[in-house]
Amino acid sequence: MHIKRLEIDNFKSFAGKTEIPFLTGFTAIAGINGSGKSNIIDSVLFALGLTSARALRSEKGVADLISTHNQRNEAYVKVVFDTDDETNSEISFARKVKKSSQGYTSTYYIDDKPQTHTQVISELEKYQITQNGNNIIMQGDVIGLVNCSSADRRVFIDEVAGTADFDRKIEMATKELNGVEERVQNSNLILTTIDERAEQLKEEREIALKYRELRENKEKLEGRISAVKYFDFKRILENVHQNILESQKLQKTKEKESKALESELENKRGEYEEICAKVKAQGEDKQLEVKRRLEEKKGEIQRKKDSIIHTEKIIFQNNKTIENAKNGIESFNTQKANCKNDITEKEEEKKELEE
Ligand code: ATP
Ligand code: MG
Repeated sequence: MHIKRLEIDNFKSFAGKTEIPFLTGFTAIAGINGSGKSNIIDSVLFALGLTSARALRSEKGVADLISTHNQRNEAYVKVVFDTDDETNSEISFARKVKKSSQGYTSTYYIDDKPQTHTQVISELEKYQITQNGNNIIMQGDVIGLVNCSSADRRVFIDEVAGTADFDRKIEMATKELNGVEERVQNSNLILTTIDERAEQLKEEREIALKYRELRENKEKLEGRISAVKYFDFKRILENVHQNILESQKLQKTKEKESKALESELENKRGEYEEICAKVKAQGEDKQLEVKRRLEEKKGEIQRKKDSIIHTEKIIFQNNKTIENAKNGIESFNTQKANCKNDITEKEEEKKELEE
């Protein structure tokens, strides 16, 4: 894989369209200071979107990339690669920046079809062209390499030789292995937990089976108890029935006895009435005498009561008369006092007249 051709249009010092062919073998570009040699490398970095890794030498960012030699507000660079494989085909990466009223727009292309920056980066990775790779050696890098420590140089050589890539892969594989080991450990842990749970479930199953067996036994026994109870009840019922029959028999006997007693009672009552009649006949005269005297006494009592009431009436009237008399005395006394006064007055008048 090597760069076959470079098409630069209005990028930095390249105002017009410039096409630079890279022939097989080694290509060197020579020119005086400031003639634009480094701008060619910048154009490659720009087109491949590797700007984040190796900053383009631009102070104002994208604005510095568009040529100031004319009024066109856009720059375009296309890098054409030869894949160097059996197909001997080409692949091109291009980028265009445009200045607009809102700012700058940047568009990437792979084989002239618009693509995102991420797609370009991942396509380049297929050819081991990476953001941090050493595919492009910038001005000053060589001097830096000569002056750097042997350890740093080792890192650089590892990078270029691709062993660093293998180291990274080994590191990643180790990390993955560790992850897998960790997952295995976790799985073992889970397995142990599952085993423990299985053991627990086994115990629970045995308990459940035992429970079922006991429940079945209980149901059987309950059935038996019910049968026993049924027969007990039946026996009790039969006894009760027997008792009822006996009671009914007894009741009939008692009824008979009661009827016999009743007729006896009836006889006795007749006898009693006869005796009563006899007793009455004998004691009637005496009773009549007592009644008569009783009536007499009752008459006397009534008369006494009447005379008491009469006396009380008289007492009441007398009391009234006394009251009236008291009132009369009172008024007489007043009249008497008045008369006395009159007499005194008359006597005084008489005295005066005599004088
Ligand atoms: P050296 O030998 O010193 O490294 P060089 O050949 O690498 O020099 P470059 O650095 O590639 O030269 O080019 C610098 C030149 O590019 C300067 O003359 C500068 O004016 C010119 N230049 C840079 N940006 C622009 C731009 N946007 N428009 C026009 N010219 C530009
Ligand atoms: Mg230079």
